Amino acid sequence: MKIINIKSRYELNPSHVDYVRSIALNADIYDSEDHGISYLMNEIPVFLLDSRHMPDREKEISDKPSTEWLGFYSHQTPILGGNIPTIGICPERIMGCVKTDEELMILTAKVILHEFAHARMRLHPSSDYLPVDEFYEWMEEPMANLMVINYFRDGVYSRRYGRRSCEVARVTNCVDPASYVKAFIEGQPDNYRLALELYENGIWRWRNWANSKSKIQKKTKEKQDWLNYVKANVGKTDESTLKQLFEALHK
Ligand SMILES: [Zn+2]
Repeated sequence: MKIINIKSRYELNPSHVDYVRSIALNADIYDSEDHGISYLMNEIPVFLLDSRHMPDREKEISDKPSTEWLGFYSHQTPILGGNIPTIGICPERIMGCVKTDEELMILTAKVILHEFAHARMRLHPSSDYLPVDEFYEWMEEPMANLMVINYFRDGVYSRRYGRRSCEVARVTNCVDPASYVKAFIEGQPDNYRLALELYENGIWRWRNWANSKSKIQKKTKEKQDWLNYVKANVGKTDESTLKQLFEALHK
């Protein structure tokens, strides 16, 4: 990974960097369709920033932290006369959300994978969706978290590649990483929390969303139907309704 300390008092611990890279590499073995996060990690720089240099520097510490409060993805950062995708994370804020070094390692991995999930969902030619609206917040954010849940599932506990994965899992003896991540997501704002229900209800096709964002942008009614339902029912969504609303967006 290209980690560049721009304005942070804290560096990332090298073992924490190895941990998130191992999860990405292990999980990407399952996916040969396109470049996975482990590939993007070689391309997109990750900047470290202190709280006062984050985009939302005024915001108080939240008891329900959104992932974007801890990190961000910028599709076009002007650097040296060009525009490149970059990721920023705030080690200071991440540290404020955890109690142990083990939790710090898992949450750092969660934030980094979430931001790389946004990068992955922006790579398709039809992935433009501007300006970002409320519907986008209620589809893109849970989908990014869904991808994080999948990476922890496949990258930490691989049945096919058990031995290699065990090396990743063994780093954390006290906390089950996937459970920790799910519990953290449970405590996030509702649009992030919706990821748990996408996962449980089998709405795993983030590619459908990623590859047709510009088409979906025009589906005013279907977008409103999704928004009305998920906002009113997060925490108690019904599998068939959720699937039906998701399908309608992609017809
Ligand atoms: Zn996000």
